[in-house]
Amino acid sequence: MTERKQAVHHERYAVLKQMLEDRRRDIHDRLRMLRETLPAQVAEVKDAEEQSVQGFAQDVELALMEMKSETLGQIDEAIRRLEAGTYGTCAQCGREIAEARLKALPFATLCRECQEVAEEARASERSQDTRVLSSFATTLGSVKAEGEL
Ligand SMILES: [Zn+2]
Repeated sequence: MTERKQAVHHERYAVLKQMLEDRRRDIHDRLRMLRETLPAQVAEVKDAEEQSVQGFAQDVELALMEMKSETLGQIDEAIRRLEAGTYGTCAQCGREIAEARLKALPFATLCRECQEVAEEARASERSQDTRVLSSFATTLGSVKAEGEL
């Protein structure tokens, strides 16, 4: 690796690490806020109707908490991969994934081009599934018709 390349590489590492750590801190803050406000809200419950609304709000917040904890795990994993030098590299073609893309989708494992190809493949797979299903339905229909005779 040339010095210039190494400098660019280091800069990218620093930018990505900062990005992941900001995100982690942000989620930590929100999680802490949720944990602090949740018990207070539950204590404020007065009547049954309010309780069901409260129960719903609590469910939503618990789901949010779970989602955030999961995201935290993904961020930790991303930071580990960044340290190991495997973060931000396309799993398909091995090229670097653009920083802008990683900022929007920190857990992207494919570059935009490969993602598009993968999505197209999935889409055509899906339409194939539909075709198989509809021909299966036709077969079933004719079997059923024969059975009725
Ligand atoms: Zn790629």
